[in-house]
Amino acid sequence: LRILGIDTSCDDTGVGVVELAPDGRVTVLANRVWSQAVHAQYGGVMPELASREHVERIDQIMGDALHEAGLSVSDIGAVAATSGPGLVGALLVGLMYGKGLAQALNVPFHAAHHLEGHIFAAASEAELRAPFLALVVSGGHTHLFDVPRGGEYVLVGATRDDAAGEAFDKVARLAGLGYPGGPAISEAATRGDPQAVPFKEPLKGQSGFDFSFSGLKTAALLAHRAGATPENLAASFQRAAVQTLVNTTVRAAQATGRSTVVVSGGVAANHALREAFAATGLHVVFPGRGLNTDNGAMIALAGAAAIQAGRPASALDGGATAYAPLANA
Ligand code: ATP
Ligand code: FE
Repeated sequence: LRILGIDTSCDDTGVGVVELAPDGRVTVLANRVWSQAVHAQYGGVMPELASREHVERIDQIMGDALHEAGLSVSDIGAVAATSGPGLVGALLVGLMYGKGLAQALNVPFHAAHHLEGHIFAAASEAELRAPFLALVVSGGHTHLFDVPRGGEYVLVGATRDDAAGEAFDKVARLAGLGYPGGPAISEAATRGDPQAVPFKEPLKGQSGFDFSFSGLKTAALLAHRAGATPENLAASFQRAAVQTLVNTTVRAAQATGRSTVVVSGGVAANHALREAFAATGLHVVFPGRGLNTDNGAMIALAGAAAIQAGRPASALDGGATAYAPLANA
């Protein structure tokens, strides 16, 4: 079964295709993303412009994805699209496009949760069978879920202030390292000393599993004013951010008895984070190349998981939702 997935939740127009084999194995056949450059001049995403760009690009990106997969549209057996959370106007473009496509092809349509997409991006690398823990570290989320059974999500911890990706972006900006901040910090960190600035691990000693990045951000600003070099700031901030993410997740794995951990979202592309998780002894699964940040293949993978679990197709009159917590779904 070939499943086409669409994500237009924010400023990336993503279309991907995956193949779900009868034995349950999934293969990514194509993954095309159009990243909107129009927002750079405003220093943030302009929702109305994002919607318009999705409308202008989605046909082309779908054509590119089908071409990459070597398929024609009639080969598609199911369609999945993100219905939330995200920018409503942006979401609606991909959601309506996906529903229309499913109806025209007379195939099932699956509305997907964006965070389920981020989590199932890791299904490109290993079969994801519950129970497992899932840490989503992206531009808008730092959420730790326990997944006791397929399709069931229990929120174990979350950030109390900034998301991890947001903190990488803000620290990169104050250090003058450019945007997007994650890759810039990661690159500069290779030339810096991770012990140069003695950032403390946030919420160290807590009994729960929450995260906090605003204190680190303020400490980074003070260190910057005190003359820390961008490279040392980057390396030291990354060290502290990785420490809190890994240590908190390891404690949660011990508390819940889970031995498999999925780490996904844009920050999961970070090399230092991957190395630190690899050293924990847990079975840690990351998304494959190009699947960490927003994309359509991860939505197709979430669709594949829903189909495999026997979840019914979604009604075609469901809407897009800006706020949609995964844990209550
Ligand atoms: P959400 O899904 O929560 O709405 P989003 O989809 O916008 O957020 P993603 O696209 O998953 O977020 O991730 C973008 C974030 O990932 C940015 O904040 C970016 O700085 C960060 N990021 C990307 N690459 C790296 C990296 N190598 N190291 C650290 N952070 C990174
Ligand atoms: Fe995302």
